[in-house]
Amino acid sequence: MRQSEMLLPTLRENPADAEIKSHQLLVRAGYIRQVASGVYSFLPIGRRVLRKVEEIVREEMEKAGAHEMLMAALQPSELWKETGRWNTFGPELMRMHDRHEREFALGATHEEVITSIIRDTVNSYKKLPLTVFQIQNKFRDEKRPRFGLLRGREFLMKDAYSFHDSFESLDGTYQKMFDAYSNIFRRCGLNFRAVIADSGAMGGKDTHEFMVLSDVGEDTIAYSDTSRYAANIEMAPVVTTYEQSAEAPKEMKKESTPGQRTMKEVADYLGHSLDKGLKAIMFKVDDQFVMVVTRGDHEVNDVKLKNLYDASFLDLASEEETKSLMGTGFGSLGPVNVPEGVEVIADLAVEKMVNASCGANEEGCHYVNVTPGTDFEVSQYADLRFIQEGDPSPDGEGTIKFARGIEVGHVFKLGEFYAEKMNASFLDDQGKAKTMIMGCYGIGVSRTLASIVEQYHDEKGITWPGTVTPFHVHLLVLNPKKEEQLNLGEDLYQKLQAAGIEVLIDDRKERPGVKFTDSDLVGIPLRVTVGKRAGEGIVELKERSTGEQSEVESASVIGQIKKYLS
Ligand code: ATP
Ligand code: MG
Repeated sequence: MRQSEMLLPTLRENPADAEIKSHQLLVRAGYIRQVASGVYSFLPIGRRVLRKVEEIVREEMEKAGAHEMLMAALQPSELWKETGRWNTFGPELMRMHDRHEREFALGATHEEVITSIIRDTVNSYKKLPLTVFQIQNKFRDEKRPRFGLLRGREFLMKDAYSFHDSFESLDGTYQKMFDAYSNIFRRCGLNFRAVIADSGAMGGKDTHEFMVLSDVGEDTIAYSDTSRYAANIEMAPVVTTYEQSAEAPKEMKKESTPGQRTMKEVADYLGHSLDKGLKAIMFKVDDQFVMVVTRGDHEVNDVKLKNLYDASFLDLASEEETKSLMGTGFGSLGPVNVPEGVEVIADLAVEKMVNASCGANEEGCHYVNVTPGTDFEVSQYADLRFIQEGDPSPDGEGTIKFARGIEVGHVFKLGEFYAEKMNASFLDDQGKAKTMIMGCYGIGVSRTLASIVEQYHDEKGITWPGTVTPFHVHLLVLNPKKEEQLNLGEDLYQKLQAAGIEVLIDDRKERPGVKFTDSDLVGIPLRVTVGKRAGEGIVELKERSTGEQSEVESASVIGQIKKYLS
């Protein structure tokens, strides 16, 4: 394609609101343009990259036995009311009325639509299992749209849904999808991990998120430094074994700690290390107040707490609620002499502590020489804390390290949740009606594209991996007014195209400096420059990612490019 005819507007400055590299570079290099907050258009080269990513996704989905379809984006509220999600999905769902005042939503996800189609069309075990997918724009009115394509309000998603007559069948498809996802992200050139994630309130058990490792990621991943183990930090169990403290319990004593509120302040003031303190935090779990006690250097993991109580609601108690229950605020809270109605539970590490310190439930006062079980009662010890770097890996191999991750994909066993609510049933081989079992599998296609840029860029611009680049070769004709340059450039342009190589020719009437800068910004893996030595049939070949360059006979350049691309 000819750059002179293409909509490829490049910018020298970063857009003011762009905080991260993928957002800055995709706008500056002419891939995307913002339409509204969290809403983007893809310009021609952006569309080309998006297509390449889509095509990888499509191929791997089809290899895994899924069939492509395209569902309506506009969805009537009646469908969402069947599952109750019209109420529970909240303000993220973009809602609207038609001219007859009927309620609709723009598809944020398609469980309801696909389940209604399957309910009407599949009624025998003979047609199961069945997997369908689509690649389509999704709409979510995100609270904080940001980071360009990473968190949009309109974004491209691949969503797949599978239907089964048994949980074993679901397990099989789940594994196929898991493998397909691994292939997809590998082919995109991404450094990623499949991590064990929280299945939330959906009822399904297994769920994995595919995380691209990146400092701009919103999630923290705990992974083993020697094995494949990786989990969302909320999900990682702590398998540390704690030693019983060898100290002889001393008598509990109240100390004045004026103005000392944080664990660190109190520990410093009392002259002991952070792990000698007891941290007490008040939670509201459904309609009960629970005080959770951990060691001073540990953090309460609210997902573990929620799971322990199988609760549907969990939040921190407010400082007012804490005051009215305990007679003191957060800074001096502790588990000694807790009133009726407040349950005290503690992390496993606490059980082995002796002569610890804790808040005395009195402003500016702490107890020292506190021993759990002696000086206060604990109704239950459990794994309640976040895993930390340096803890042993839960799979027994290696030590835990942390990394930040961008969630690009999600595979999820839904079980019977949607099928039950929407009456999607089938007749089994005995002629008995049963509820269908479902799985769902999502990939953020536009988010994946941005994640690739997060991992493939340098100070000059993007450095696309070959599998998703908009073109293979950027052919620069430095001075098209010079006949020998123009002719050699046009000749190479035709030959490259004839060889099936995707080529963008910069035939614009711009200065060489502009062409080089734009070319680095756009980030096509190979650059062929036709310049001063065109008359001798010599061109320059340069690799974008390494900066390696050499002068090459124009007659042999196509052969070299082919070799490089294979
Ligand atoms: P997140 O926790 O990032 O909000 P999610 O759990 O809401 O993601 P899913 O409903 O599982 O996401 O959607 C499937 C995939 O769609 C995600 O794995 C992610 O890659 C992508 N995705 C979700 N929300 C957005 C968004 N606002 N912008 C771009 N991609 C998104
Ligand atoms: Mg979300």
